[in-house]
Amino acid sequence: MKTSIIGYPRIGSLRELKFASEKYFRAEISASELEATAKSLRCENLKIQKESGLDLIPSNDFSFYDGMLDTAVLLNAVPERYRALGLSKLDTYFAMARGYQGDHGDVKAFAMKKWFHTNYHYMVPEIDDATQLKLADTKPFDLFAEAKAEGVITKPVIIGAYTFLKLARFLGTKKAADFVDDAANAYIEILSRLAECGAQWVQFDEPCLVKDMTDADKALFTSLYAKILSGKNGVKVLLQTYFGDVRDCYQDLCKMDFDGIGLDFIEGKESLSLVQNYGFPADKVLFAGVVNGRNIWRNHYEKTVSLVKTLQESAAQIVLNTSCSLLHVPYTLRHEKKMGENYRKHFAYAEEKLGELSELKSILTAEDPTVSAAYQNNLALFAQPRSGANADVQARVAALTDKDFVRLPEFAVREQVQKERFQLPLLPTTTIGSFPQTKEVRAARAAFRKGESTQDQYDAFLKEQITACIRLQEQIGIDVLVHGEFERNDMVEYFGESLEGYLFTEKAWVQSYGTRCVKPPVIWGDISRAKPMTVKWSTFAQSLTDLPVKGMLTGPVTILNWSFPREDISLKESAYQIALAIRDEVLDLEANGISIIQVDEAALREKLPLRQSDWKSDYLDWAIPAFRLVHSGVKPETQIHTHMCYSEFADIIHEIDDMDADVITFEASRSDLTILDVLKASNFRTEVGPGVYDIHSPRVPSQEEIETALKKMLDKIPAEKLWVNPDCGLKTRGNAETVPSLENLVKAAKAVRKTLA
Ligand code: GLN
Ligand code: ZN
Repeated sequence: MKTSIIGYPRIGSLRELKFASEKYFRAEISASELEATAKSLRCENLKIQKESGLDLIPSNDFSFYDGMLDTAVLLNAVPERYRALGLSKLDTYFAMARGYQGDHGDVKAFAMKKWFHTNYHYMVPEIDDATQLKLADTKPFDLFAEAKAEGVITKPVIIGAYTFLKLARFLGTKKAADFVDDAANAYIEILSRLAECGAQWVQFDEPCLVKDMTDADKALFTSLYAKILSGKNGVKVLLQTYFGDVRDCYQDLCKMDFDGIGLDFIEGKESLSLVQNYGFPADKVLFAGVVNGRNIWRNHYEKTVSLVKTLQESAAQIVLNTSCSLLHVPYTLRHEKKMGENYRKHFAYAEEKLGELSELKSILTAEDPTVSAAYQNNLALFAQPRSGANADVQARVAALTDKDFVRLPEFAVREQVQKERFQLPLLPTTTIGSFPQTKEVRAARAAFRKGESTQDQYDAFLKEQITACIRLQEQIGIDVLVHGEFERNDMVEYFGESLEGYLFTEKAWVQSYGTRCVKPPVIWGDISRAKPMTVKWSTFAQSLTDLPVKGMLTGPVTILNWSFPREDISLKESAYQIALAIRDEVLDLEANGISIIQVDEAALREKLPLRQSDWKSDYLDWAIPAFRLVHSGVKPETQIHTHMCYSEFADIIHEIDDMDADVITFEASRSDLTILDVLKASNFRTEVGPGVYDIHSPRVPSQEEIETALKKMLDKIPAEKLWVNPDCGLKTRGNAETVPSLENLVKAAKAVRKTLA
């Protein structure tokens, strides 16, 4: 029995790659210095994996920004507008990732989307009719050679042809099926080059296979792999799936010439029954994803051992694997210096999961698995009751009735009441909440956290920042203001810190996109609100101005989705607990004179189950009610906003409307405003602010550009329902871009208003 992992985190255990990349972006270090940091991180990962005893160590799981983007470059899918900049290879790559504005030109970045239901984002490749897919890069070979020089024959990991084509955007008339031959040939060449390098296994990641597949999808997949597998050149091909089960194509996979098939037994509801019902081919290796790659709780050895024993009845050769890439968990508990042993023993980050794989391997290969100390310790861990139960919270959830989930009066009545109350101009302008988290802001917070400044000093600093932010927005002429969120490190961690039942980590960073990382808190026990969390800063900000300042909260679904969830109670139960805590905060804000309250549900869409048949029952049936529970107690004249990142919610548009917020803002600028048609077609009732420019890119949108966007929006959305705002919070941007961008936004709104009057 061997062990394997699908991929390892790459940002560095102390986010070294992030810091080096950002220095490179600011031209503080050279490309070769950045490369050197990357190389040392790769070598360190290699060493840790080797020392853990891992049998199949991945390579090419490293990326400077994103694996899909790397695959686009590998396959020559670099659009002309980036080539035309005439930049170096690395800078062309970063231009695709981040956009570019400078001496060489002005181009927007690739679109960015959530990677399946995770909080990781991938760059969406663009393919047009002129795109010639072919092998165009050497990264997989270079990284294989690099590891080989360190004495390790790795298993190169490459996003597979099917997933690549399924996730790409086709801009011309050609579709995925038109690229089968070219794509297959490129992958064959990759296999032959890897064979020459001395690779034994190659892993093709095909997570798209866990989504619902149409007949055309199946045909695309089979035509690609019929070709690719005819050119294996002696390399063993592992078809790796994750994030679910492959019920639509399992039997096809078994018949095809793969040498290994990787299945997810954590999230794949039907993976086990597929293997049991249809068997597993004797000539193939089953890479069994039994260690959760997406959560940080210790593996339950008793359950895993029994699962693997069951699998052994059907599959002759098994490799113990993670359920997905470890990209989605933090690096190592070694850096958690403050976490007490009582907590620590329940967790396994990436490095500890390597240890689990090695322990599971020795347990499973022993005569009697139950005698090993590792097995016994693990049994004892799960037998102990955990602290963190709160009977009051459990009772409050149990007592909820249907009317707790309904806000009255109905939307149309409230809309009128609110129009009269606020007297806002047509196309009111606002922002999503955060303002730039400058060096100064971060330094002040860090100093306070380290005890280098007092609470009073820190509060005084925040007051200054908030005051300046309010004045700035007034000067720019924004209609509905925000306080700027300077006191917040992160929109979830901040709330987690004020809620009972949460546990905090110091260094549990997980990559979100590019150089952005998040540090999800851990839901440890039952959740409750100990005291008001945001009232102080919201009321302070409101005291500075006569314009409305939005209260700013994170919604229960997002708090849950961006935390590491419990595995001992249901997600629904956790969501309702959090919703009740946020509801208390909403009512406190309202009682303290805050007239508009935004409850962000940035992450609501991303956890939608990957298969449509699971949407309602596994998710929407509790996620939408959880949001409604938060605001159902407010007065009609209190305006509830919500915000979502990404507008990929065409298919759940009615459920979004059913959240029953008064206003929703969301990303639209990167997705070509296609969402507008959907809003129109569905008679969307909630007022909307589709983002008029992309805040993920450092470029400044012109007034003209924003006016154009607004005019397009007005074709589809009644002026009385349209808000004007950027597409997300501004915290990742600098003031240098933010101020002119918002000035252009307000000018554009004013100009378009005139044409409406
Ligand atoms: N209010 C948050 C902010 O502006 C929303 C962030 C988000 O949607 N990710 O930062
Ligand atoms: Zn957002």
